[in-house]
Amino acid sequence: MPRGVVVVDGERCKGCGLCIAACPQKVLAFSGTLNKSGYDVIHMQNPDACVGCAFCALTCPDIALSVYREKTAP
Ligand code: SF4
Ligand code: SF4
Repeated sequence: MPRGVVVVDGERCKGCGLCIAACPQKVLAFSGTLNKSGYDVIHMQNPDACVGCAFCALTCPDIALSVYREKTAP
């Protein structure tokens, strides 16, 4: 199973929660940290479960998420 890492651009996040709902692995959650606009920014609450599918990034209307996949051996 591939592993992924999600990088959040905290100032782009509007705290809509769509990425939380889109993640099949229940990786993402609200962090409780507010950005400059006052939105509760997303973070990886359960990072070990991320498979790098990028559903979260594709769902985000504000292009706040970047997904990186761990290289697997050839
Ligand atoms: S890449 Fe996939 S598994 Fe990882 S947080 Fe995003 S939706 Fe969830
Ligand atoms: S979908 Fe995008 S804007 Fe909405 S909470 Fe997730 S990262 Fe933030």
